[in-house]
Amino acid sequence: MKFFKFLSITLLAGLIGIALPACRQEKKYRIGVSQCSDDDWRKKMNEEIEREVMFHDNVEVEIRSADDSNEHQIADLNYFADNGFDIIITAPNESDPITPTIDSIMARGIPVVVFDRTVTDHNYTAFQGADNDSIGIQVADYVNQLPGDKKRVLEIFGNPGSSPARGRHNGFIKQIDLYPDVELIASGVGNWNYERAAKVADSLLTIYPDAEVIYAHNDRMALAASDVADNKGLHPFIIGVDAAPQIGMKGVAEGKIKATFLYPTEGHEVIRTALDILEGKPYDKESILKATSVVDESNADILLLQDQSLREETSKMERLKTEVDRYWKEHRLQTVFLYILGGLLLMLFILLFLFLRAFWKTQRQQAQLVEQNKELETQRDNERRLNEQLQQATQSKLMFFTNVSHDLRTPLTLIAEPVRQLSEADNLTPPQKTMMRLALKNVRILQRLINQVLDFRKYENGRLSLSLTEVNIYSLVEDWTEAFLAEARRRHMKLSIDSSLDNSLHLALDVEKIERVFFNLLSNAFKYTPDNGNIDVSLKSEGDNLIISVADSGRGIPPEDIANIFDRFFQVDKVHPKGSGIGLSLAKAFVELHEGSLSVVSELGKGSVFTVSIPIKHVAETPVEVKGAITGSDVSDEVGRIERQEPALPSDSDSDEERPLVLVIDDNTDILILLSELLNERYRVITAPNGSEGVRLAAKYVPDLVICDVMMPVMDGLECCRRIKSEVSTSHIPVLMLTACSMDEQRVQGYESGADGYLSKPFSDVVLSARCDSLIQNRRRIIDLYSADKNIPAPTRKAPQAPASQPGDIDNEFYRRFIEIFRASMSNPDVNVDALAAEMGLGRSQFYRKIKALTNFSPVELIRNIRLKEARNLLLTSEMTVSEIAYAVGFSTPAYFTKCYRESFGETPSDTRANLVAP
Ligand code: ADP
Repeated sequence: MKFFKFLSITLLAGLIGIALPACRQEKKYRIGVSQCSDDDWRKKMNEEIEREVMFHDNVEVEIRSADDSNEHQIADLNYFADNGFDIIITAPNESDPITPTIDSIMARGIPVVVFDRTVTDHNYTAFQGADNDSIGIQVADYVNQLPGDKKRVLEIFGNPGSSPARGRHNGFIKQIDLYPDVELIASGVGNWNYERAAKVADSLLTIYPDAEVIYAHNDRMALAASDVADNKGLHPFIIGVDAAPQIGMKGVAEGKIKATFLYPTEGHEVIRTALDILEGKPYDKESILKATSVVDESNADILLLQDQSLREETSKMERLKTEVDRYWKEHRLQTVFLYILGGLLLMLFILLFLFLRAFWKTQRQQAQLVEQNKELETQRDNERRLNEQLQQATQSKLMFFTNVSHDLRTPLTLIAEPVRQLSEADNLTPPQKTMMRLALKNVRILQRLINQVLDFRKYENGRLSLSLTEVNIYSLVEDWTEAFLAEARRRHMKLSIDSSLDNSLHLALDVEKIERVFFNLLSNAFKYTPDNGNIDVSLKSEGDNLIISVADSGRGIPPEDIANIFDRFFQVDKVHPKGSGIGLSLAKAFVELHEGSLSVVSELGKGSVFTVSIPIKHVAETPVEVKGAITGSDVSDEVGRIERQEPALPSDSDSDEERPLVLVIDDNTDILILLSELLNERYRVITAPNGSEGVRLAAKYVPDLVICDVMMPVMDGLECCRRIKSEVSTSHIPVLMLTACSMDEQRVQGYESGADGYLSKPFSDVVLSARCDSLIQNRRRIIDLYSADKNIPAPTRKAPQAPASQPGDIDNEFYRRFIEIFRASMSNPDVNVDALAAEMGLGRSQFYRKIKALTNFSPVELIRNIRLKEARNLLLTSEMTVSEIAYAVGFSTPAYFTKCYRESFGETPSDTRANLVAP
């Protein structure tokens, strides 16, 4: 989405970027033209200016006329300066009044081009004008060559404040000095305009009616003089200046004036100069246009015609220009459209591409989805097939179970009875009695389990029916609960019945089934509630239902398991099950057969409440007398522990006891009992109910062998083994792992954790003893290894055997450190074993057992042997005397040293020396 947004913005910006330059048609330069008046000559010049501008696209011109008024002209000039015009072209009306305005404009940095008329102080950017003096001269020359002897001239002046008037006069005066036949007899100011000139001409002609020539500074004044002369019936030779087509030339052509002198306009020139200034090109600051030829009756018509055709051409050009402009405008517009169209097309292509890409992507994803869907369907089919196979397998398994259970029933009954009778025999030794009880307990459990499995199958097959009897429920529950009282007392538990029932309430029940439901609930409460806990049985009626609930203060059930608790074979603790997991599902089935329900509310760590609700129905008017069938031995078989004499824990005084010490770690009390009884004869046995207790006991008593179950709560067997093997005080102890599982993987894990052997359940007494013996024996061989390798005299003179396994790094390191610490104080005869133990980080008895286990010597013996071995070395390799050696290796007297030496090596130290000297 973001990408699309970015794309559209970019494209839009691109389009604007493309279109903008095409649209832009800005005029670059603005030129203001301020004319002093609006006569024909200026019109012609304006036309030339506008014609020139046509050729420059970047120029815009505005022409204003001051109508011979200085105020107007000042206003026009200021207008141009204030409105951002780039350059101002002006013909000042009168020099003096206009000069300050031009000065101020120049001071503002705006260039000013003055034309035709000049300013007083010549402060301008450029000047362009005709040479008026030369016009005066040409007029004088022309008058001189007129026929006649004497030419007396009347002059009609322009505005005396304007420079052309002064130039035209001065040139004339100067030139007639050369011509004696030409005489200026009078001048009058016509101020450039017709009316004023007419008056002046009238006065002059009144005074000088016989004047031959009238020289007017422009054509308009010449025409006025002509009209006045006509009126007076006079015919002087009238000369004008400017030769503007519609006045001067026309006047000559019509015979009103005799001649006029072309005063150049050059409007195009003044624009070019302005552009040169603006574009920074070189230009002439003063350009004086040459006055050109005379117009008289010989050429006036032709010039008029020329002018006419020029006008026509100009108007054609203007039309052409308008057309070109229009075409150009259209062209630009079309270009813009073209660009926009191109942009749009590009955008369209990109959109199309993106659309196609998105489409392809969707197609691909759809294909993938279809593929995944197919896979899922295949998986589902496979799962369904597997499920069916599983169901079939379960069914076959259950069938097999049922069949096997059927087959087991009879042999079990045949075992159970002899075992019961044997266990009650009087001539049994206490261990035999314990084992018989163990056997009986487990036979009973098996029998119950088999009955449960068979009942459950019957229920599943719809072959379980109710056999209803009208009974008094309160007395029944009381009977059942009573059977548990002894167990409750033994375990210091509070077992109570709380009833809000009418004690005489009776209802129809299948007594045997409800009894089993109750037995299951109450025995579960006992199994999962620790000693000193509370168990409450409560009875009440709610509407037409009987409610029996069993509440305990036990461990509770995890919320995620509550939903499964009534499933067949489900057990919360799969590692250490205390039953088969079929009890509750069967109980539920029995309750449901009564059209009732069984539910549970439980909180982890706080306890559980199981509630049975059964509709109260009747099959008889009065209840039948029925006694509860649960017996105390049923209870102790299910939840009780076998009582036996706990083996005494070893004390320090046992250090000399010959029988090796075996630590058995298992969470199953029955297994602990069995192992203790099996090993008791040849070993001293201590037991631990879990791994962490096992590690603690191993460190405390440093046994000769540890037998450890793999799967245990709190700390499992692998971790337990790892800890034992990593502790200095216990690292040397062989560990035999016990497991119900014979999988290789578990064996590997066991060996990785440092186990020395593996034994799968079930095991026979013989195999167990053999394994224990061989592990302890192997340990002995390692002791020989220490004794032989470490320069210590062997305690017994046995033929050396190849060790079955090498001592571990921890043991090597322990022994190396011991030797190092001891050697440092060898010469001290009072070396304290307790201090040595503390320095090695062990307690006295731990140290004793460790040294004994590694070397088979007590620490004191080991120390003495090391001293003797060192003494023998010194005897053989040094020059020291026997006494010196005795003290050096820490004997208090040489005599005692000699005694010990002889005992150990069968010769005196002197004999050893003597043998060395005389080989
Ligand atoms: P079992 O015969 O193994 O006791 P049950 O079907 O009776 O099997 O019980 C299934 C599981 O429900 C048990 O393994 C146990 O984890 C859990 N359970 C049953 N009753 C309780 C109880 N009162 N407190 C805690 N857990 C219980």
